[in-house]
Amino acid sequence: MPSYTAPTKDMQFVLHDVLNISASDIPGYSDLEVDFTGAVLEEAGKLTANVVAPLNVVGDREGCTLENGVVRTPTGFKAAFDEVRAGGWTALDMPEQYGGQNMPYVLGTAIGEMFSSANQAFTMYQGLTHGAASAILAHGTDQQKDTYLPKMASCDWTGTMNLTEPHCGTDLGLMRTKAEPQGDGSYKITGQKIFISAGDHDLADNIIHLVLAKIIGGPEGIKGVSLFIVPKVLVNEDGSLGARNGVSVGNLEEKMGIHGNSTCVMNYDSAVGYLLGEEHKGMRAMFTMMNEARLGVGMQGLAQAEVAYQNAVIYAKDRLQGRAVTGTENPNGPADPLIVHPDIRRSLMDQKSFVEGARAFILWGASLIDQAHRKDDKDADGLISLMTPVIKGFLTDQGYDMTVKAQQIYGGHGYIEEHGMSQFTRDARIAQIYEGANGVQALDLVGRKLAADGGKPVMAFFDLLKNFIKENDANEALKKDFLDPLKAASKDLQASAMYFMQSGMKNPNNALSGSNDFMHLFGHVCLGLMWGRMAVAAQAALDAGTSDAAFYETKLATGRYYMARQLPATALHLARIQTGADTVMALDAASF
Ligand SMILES: Cc1cc2nc3c(=O)[nH]c(=O)nc-3n(C[C@H](O)[C@H](O)[C@H](O)COP(=O)(O)OP(=O)(O)OC[C@H]3O[C@@H](n4cnc5c(N)ncnc54)[C@H](O)[C@@H]3O)c2cc1C
Repeated sequence: MPSYTAPTKDMQFVLHDVLNISASDIPGYSDLEVDFTGAVLEEAGKLTANVVAPLNVVGDREGCTLENGVVRTPTGFKAAFDEVRAGGWTALDMPEQYGGQNMPYVLGTAIGEMFSSANQAFTMYQGLTHGAASAILAHGTDQQKDTYLPKMASCDWTGTMNLTEPHCGTDLGLMRTKAEPQGDGSYKITGQKIFISAGDHDLADNIIHLVLAKIIGGPEGIKGVSLFIVPKVLVNEDGSLGARNGVSVGNLEEKMGIHGNSTCVMNYDSAVGYLLGEEHKGMRAMFTMMNEARLGVGMQGLAQAEVAYQNAVIYAKDRLQGRAVTGTENPNGPADPLIVHPDIRRSLMDQKSFVEGARAFILWGASLIDQAHRKDDKDADGLISLMTPVIKGFLTDQGYDMTVKAQQIYGGHGYIEEHGMSQFTRDARIAQIYEGANGVQALDLVGRKLAADGGKPVMAFFDLLKNFIKENDANEALKKDFLDPLKAASKDLQASAMYFMQSGMKNPNNALSGSNDFMHLFGHVCLGLMWGRMAVAAQAALDAGTSDAAFYETKLATGRYYMARQLPATALHLARIQTGADTVMALDAASF
């Protein structure tokens, strides 16, 4: 059975040494003192390691079942969900008015990583609820907020997001689900949605479905899509539960991973729905919280990579195979542990340098979201919107690759189910697909985000890089290993952006043939910047005579690895981008 230990020390390092959150002027951040965040993270760490993680394998093996139209979650999920709920962990960043704790998003994100590492399928029930509640908070009437939010904050009622239909996932303008006005302010919703996460289950008294549908007679295509609240059980005026709505589960999908989460075909048969936000503005309402939702999925990439890495380290220290080429390291044993071998080290360093860099990137992104929301800072909003497809696409692609590397360390024992390593790869895979498949993230980055607001956010990102390098250029301890590689990678990023501006304008296929490479190039630069910032913080702690020198030395050594062995990938991505569309589009469709 795999194990999980929450990386609280590393989280504290990012929050305090790197981001220096308690000194920030973002409202709510001054409460985030080292002792406070340390205590909250420790508690969350115990809960996730002891209660949530042990159910990960159970959920994978048992899966959910559909009997007589009712979905049952795996053994133990309900009791654990009740414990998480009772501890107030489901509404950390919700307003106090609705039963939340109004904590900054950055802290909720660190805790979210723990939950997701411990058990992604389980955590999705509260994650989807949080997404639906956030949309109601942003677009609901006072009455809708009062009716739904307190129950959703506590997860007495959970939530779902219903976009996908059998014939449309990316191109939602093709949607067929209809909404018919009833003259009393309500609508009758009719249609079928597929792949709906947490669509039905036995964890909560009610499920509040947010459903995209087209109001009859409205505009064609995506401009005619509106968002509706469709409760599984109708809610009476006094807040009590009333009659069953016309919502049913058509089927439970069999799938590659996240077996503990119910993925449902949902049928809406003249179900009563209430408009959320404005008519025909459904996409805007659904995507208001897009940056958070996509950051949350990017975090799943990190989370699965983290837990897979932790187990790979344990195995590499324990499994005895072969001898170290430079001389025996375990003379009393029949062989040396795997960890002596350079190729195993390479793989572990790939994983370690990724998860630590990704964690800094995610928490920095979460702090930008706090800055945008809590300070109404448009520049922070522009920057996080630019980086959102990078966080989602790059971190889930890399996160998946890292779970494969961790699995590889187990050899054949990684492929069989006994050690649980295959579950990490299978669970990590979905994050590359849902919440906008990664190919579409790359399109969004190149097609929309680069040119957004006249290119202001991307220029701001380049300034940020330039200023960081300039401010630290005199730091001789870091120059060669950190700043010079970052400078080279930044040049690759600039050259690729320039290529898109020049050649992409002439032929859009040139830009779109390089979009995936660009997303990865951008991601490496972001992680390079994070490692630069972590190196500055670690060096400062060492210079100040920290009593924990080993931690900071390890941080510097891990960062040096990333800069030397991972960051140079930017040159290959640039070379590919600059070849344009010629070889990509050379064949006609019939030649495939
Ligand atoms: C386990 C699971 C849980 C899910 N949970 C939910 C949920 O809770 N709610 C919900 O509404 N949906 C959910 N989904 C659906 C998911 O969001 C979609 O599957 C996803 O958005 C892709 O849509 P699609 O499957 O229709 O693929 P398509 O849209 O058909 O795309 C197929 C492929 O083509 C690519 N592609 C599409 N258009 C373009 C283009 N213009 N240029 C280049 N490439 C393109 C895509 O990147 C993708 O790789 C879930 C799916 C799964 C498997």
